[in-house]
Amino acid sequence: MASTIAIIGSGISGLVALKCSLEVGLQATCFEKSDCVGGLWNFMDHAENGRASIYRSVFTNACKEMMCYPDFPIPDEYPNFMHNAVFLEYLKLYAKHFDLLRHIKFRTAVVSVQKRPDFAKTGQWDVVTEQDGKQKSVIFDAVLICTGHHVYPNLPLQSFSGIEKFKGQYMHNRDYKFPEKYTGKNVLVVGLGNSGADIAVELGRTAKKVVLSTRSGSWIMSRVWDNGYPWDMVYLTRYQSFLNRILPRAVSDWRYESMMEKRFNHSHYGLVPVNKSLRKEPVFNDDLTASITCGTVTVKPNIREFRETSVVFDDGSMMKNVDVVIFATGYSYAYPFMDDSIVKNNKNKVSLYKGVFPPKLEKPTLAVIGLVQSLGGIPPTSDVQARWAVRVIKGTCKLPPKETMISELEEEEGEKKNWFGRSETLSTDYVVYMDELSSFIGCKPNLSRLCLTDPKLAFEVFFGPCSPYQFRLHGPGKWDGARKAILNQWKRTIDATQMRVVQAHQETSSLITLVKILFVPLLLLALFLAVF
Ligand code: FAD
Ligand code: NAP
Repeated sequence: MASTIAIIGSGISGLVALKCSLEVGLQATCFEKSDCVGGLWNFMDHAENGRASIYRSVFTNACKEMMCYPDFPIPDEYPNFMHNAVFLEYLKLYAKHFDLLRHIKFRTAVVSVQKRPDFAKTGQWDVVTEQDGKQKSVIFDAVLICTGHHVYPNLPLQSFSGIEKFKGQYMHNRDYKFPEKYTGKNVLVVGLGNSGADIAVELGRTAKKVVLSTRSGSWIMSRVWDNGYPWDMVYLTRYQSFLNRILPRAVSDWRYESMMEKRFNHSHYGLVPVNKSLRKEPVFNDDLTASITCGTVTVKPNIREFRETSVVFDDGSMMKNVDVVIFATGYSYAYPFMDDSIVKNNKNKVSLYKGVFPPKLEKPTLAVIGLVQSLGGIPPTSDVQARWAVRVIKGTCKLPPKETMISELEEEEGEKKNWFGRSETLSTDYVVYMDELSSFIGCKPNLSRLCLTDPKLAFEVFFGPCSPYQFRLHGPGKWDGARKAILNQWKRTIDATQMRVVQAHQETSSLITLVKILFVPLLLLALFLAVF
């Protein structure tokens, strides 16, 4: 049985993987190539090879009640959406609170992870690390890979005809840090993901001209949603997820599109996605429409051709005198320290059982944490993945046979393509995924039991935000503060913005309450389905 474990990386995923390993009694060592915890959230003013790199103005796009670790709420005084420096402070608090720092070897890069010759029998790994130019090899019983997936830029230059003739500067957004040096320049931003939208809006304030080119458009959501609450507290609920699963696809698509169009008509801004019903990640940006309407950002279709100093778009229009092109074209991922075929399938795509375990290993002693992409925050996702992974490694949870895992993976891949389209990352429905993994370890919220024993909590768990605390209500790793955290989550959210004393008012409108009451029969149906 495994007793030693190596954790690679001390970002969001590495920290929780370390904590969970220690909790189940594994002798854990975490290797971190930088000199600080926090990974991507540890902002630096230059991009470093092999590490994620963010721009100075990044804010979280999940709110604090949805982006915390489930047994460690974000401090009351922090805002609902946090600047990267504030969120980094939270990660440091977490590491300190759970006494993790003494298990982390900083400035130590893992350079090689290889199966031992007797792997089929022992499941052990040779892990080679490098510190101050010196290499060291240690045998570990298990390895958790927590190296992030926003590290290696996707710079698809081959897709852009004439790029070799272009005389201006071009780069991936990974190298974009501050707006100052673009003052007075003509900038073209390529790609309408969260990075592209943020950077275009930011540059629109100081650059001479900013054009944002998108090949397939995107839905734009605001961080501030119904009644001023964070979007994810309103949208990421069991109730919504349940409706998505029971309604016919056409109705569910109609509901989705109506919700996305609620704030403004995307066609009027040239942003509407080519495939409207695809659940690819929306862009969270409160200022993009304002920038377009104020003329500081212009939206254009895909690029047809680069010329020496200009760019021609698919509609024949042209941007002249382009000084800089910023490719905000996303990321691909790589594990340069090990044989890729461990985590990739024959189509060279990452293929992991439940986004965590390579299905073909003779022994399940290696797992990837934090790779799955859903609308939920990474901390709760990595938490449930790590809790499951360490139990499989310890042998207290079992994986299905190899053939079952591979056939399930193929089936899921087809379904996911249908909902999320082709995506580099492993996209999934947050609530369904969290429930599935938590059921493996016995901490999935038991709605039927809650209905009988604690109806108030059951109501909030079903209709309220699917907040991380739900996965620490019972079972292994139960956190005593979970119930209170769930019942107070709305109040904490308001407290974070209501700094001026105002007249007390009804928290939810009577109409919403009425609608909820009308849906009680639906709740009962959900419970019925959950039980049988
Ligand atoms: P990382 O944060 O990338 O950490 C990986 C760590 O591993 C790093 O510290 C690195 O130094 C270390 N490492 C790598 N290789 C080695 C090695 N060989 N040896 C030793 N150490 C190594 N997600 C959200 O949930 N909410 C958000 O609001 C959000 N905003 C984002 C904004 C941007 C601009 C981007 C790019 C992503 C955002 N994400 C967000 C997704 C983001 O990837 C996760 O929030 C999170 O940072 C992932 O954590 P991680 O620990 O898996 O990886
Ligand atoms: P992304 O979401 O992968 O978006 C990449 C964009 O580039 C997409 O619009 C894509 O278009 C486009 N693209 C890719 N290849 C292209 C090509 N060959 N030609 C034209 N367009 C191309 O990448 P990202 O915006 O960097 O985001 C990465 C992750 O970081 C996401 O999870 C995001 O949420 C997160 N993030 C968060 C924040 C925040 O506010 N907290 C900020 C930035 C990023 P298609 O849609 O057509 O494929």
